[in-house]
Amino acid sequence: MGGEEPQTKDDPQNPLGTVRRVEASDEMTPFEAATYFFHRSADRLNVRDEVRAVLSTSYRELAVQIPVKYEDGSIHVHRGYRVQHNGARGPYKGGIRYADTVDMDEVRALAALMTWKNALIDVPYGGAKGGVHCDPTAMSHPEKERLTRRFTAMISYIIGVNRDIPAPDMGTDAQTMAWMMDEYGRKMGYTPGIVTGKPVELGGSPGREEATGRGVVLCTQEAAKRAGMSFRGAAIAIQGFGNVGYWTAALAQEAGAKVVAVSDVRGGIYNANGLDIDTVLKHSGDAGSVQGYHDAEDVSNQELLEVRCDILIPAAIHGVIHSENAGHIKAKLMVEAANGPTTPAADEILTDRGVTVVPDILANTGGVTVSYFEWVQNIQQFRWELDQVNRELEKRMSRATTQVFERATANNTTLRDAAFDIGVDRVRSAAEVRGYV
Ligand code: NAD
Repeated sequence: MGGEEPQTKDDPQNPLGTVRRVEASDEMTPFEAATYFFHRSADRLNVRDEVRAVLSTSYRELAVQIPVKYEDGSIHVHRGYRVQHNGARGPYKGGIRYADTVDMDEVRALAALMTWKNALIDVPYGGAKGGVHCDPTAMSHPEKERLTRRFTAMISYIIGVNRDIPAPDMGTDAQTMAWMMDEYGRKMGYTPGIVTGKPVELGGSPGREEATGRGVVLCTQEAAKRAGMSFRGAAIAIQGFGNVGYWTAALAQEAGAKVVAVSDVRGGIYNANGLDIDTVLKHSGDAGSVQGYHDAEDVSNQELLEVRCDILIPAAIHGVIHSENAGHIKAKLMVEAANGPTTPAADEILTDRGVTVVPDILANTGGVTVSYFEWVQNIQQFRWELDQVNRELEKRMSRATTQVFERATANNTTLRDAAFDIGVDRVRSAAEVRGYV
């Protein structure tokens, strides 16, 4: 395996992404899907062509090689990426993903979503994302550390406390951020604000680990209320049992909902009477998967999306809800904790069927919001208490959620369209007033 090139969809002829208008389908790449929703919004907002060209492409894209020595002596050359999509509203901000799906197209899509998300939740950041093509589940701790340190050194030229601040995403965690901070600090000196999502003992914020899940639950409670549905006792199915999936499940249960299904990459489990989330966590830690849990039946990831429930929360990967299964989803409310879980074709089907979809750029903003609080604390060298973090998070989530629902009602659009309209409009006006175009 040593030394081979990963398969990627990188297009050298189109280095920064294109301005394309395409029909909704399942076959779109992640970046085409993100751009599709952007263009619908740009049409509604009458965004000028030159501004549209700036907002639909990346500002800067960096692809790097990362040779890593493995325990068996072999050397694997991984490919890493950092994409800065738009910086009109502040320093670039977005997570780092380690997965075998990572390529330039995926990172570019996630960077663009960060731009709209950060504007919508109104933190003073532009959008960015990074990633490394690898399988973190097959790597040892020292292998991951070597990969992370080399990747950090390779992207250190374009990141910075006031330039671009990475954070965790799929396949990365607080430990990854600790290595990144340490590696960056070797050259630049002690710089805790270079990454967020760090361990608390290194300047991380209390409440950051669970922040995305907490935000998802706050948003879901508000959406349920507006849909005339009781959150207490509602049956919830959640795909993904990592950082976001676990915390969403645990906090939803704490708030009185009944979590009937969860899953991980190997498959899921279902119990119509509800699962006890902390016992499932323990089982999954011991068994390496939620599957095989004694008090539930095993289901596939596909079946999980279609189980009988009131609320469906995809919290794993993109593109899992498509035109083949959108018609079979039984939930009346779907909340996108994952980034890009719904293809544009499926989005149309769900809208036609009257399923309320709370879009990713609203639902999963809790993480970046508390990342912002962490960065502020690092810069001020002043620690906040957990209750202050949670109070501020709740205030911002509630404000953004209300704005999205009110705009959707006023303009008779979906929640996704309303969320994009708010985000795109804010970035458009910052780009114009700065004189980008
Ligand atoms: P994670 O690595 O902690 O967990 C990912 C989970 O998804 C794991 O349970 C894994 O087994 C499962 N999974 C992986 N591949 C799968 C597949 N093919 N089918 C079903 N399940 C699969 O990642 P995370 O941080 O929880 O991120 C999950 C999603 O939430 C991603 O889309 C990420 O971009 C998004 N997100 C994360 C954050 C954050 O703060 N971590 C913030 C905003 C959005």
